[in-house]
Amino acid sequence: MKFGVIVCPNCKKVKAVDLTYQTTRCIRCNRVINLKKVKILYKSNSQEQIRQVIGKINAELMRS
Ligand SMILES: [Zn+2]
Repeated sequence: MKFGVIVCPNCKKVKAVDLTYQTTRCIRCNRVINLKKVKILYKSNSQEQIRQVIGKINAELMRS
């Protein structure tokens, strides 16, 4: 699987990541996130699918 969805442990932003890298930087809080230390909520090879999942999660977060 190439792409994943994670939640930033610092600011809770839902974010798409490239799983071929071991770290990613949060665009909101600028924190470097180690992908081995966070839960991958969803994995896919399709970037389009990842986008849809993030949209769904954000919609749910807004409702709660
Ligand atoms: Zn963050």
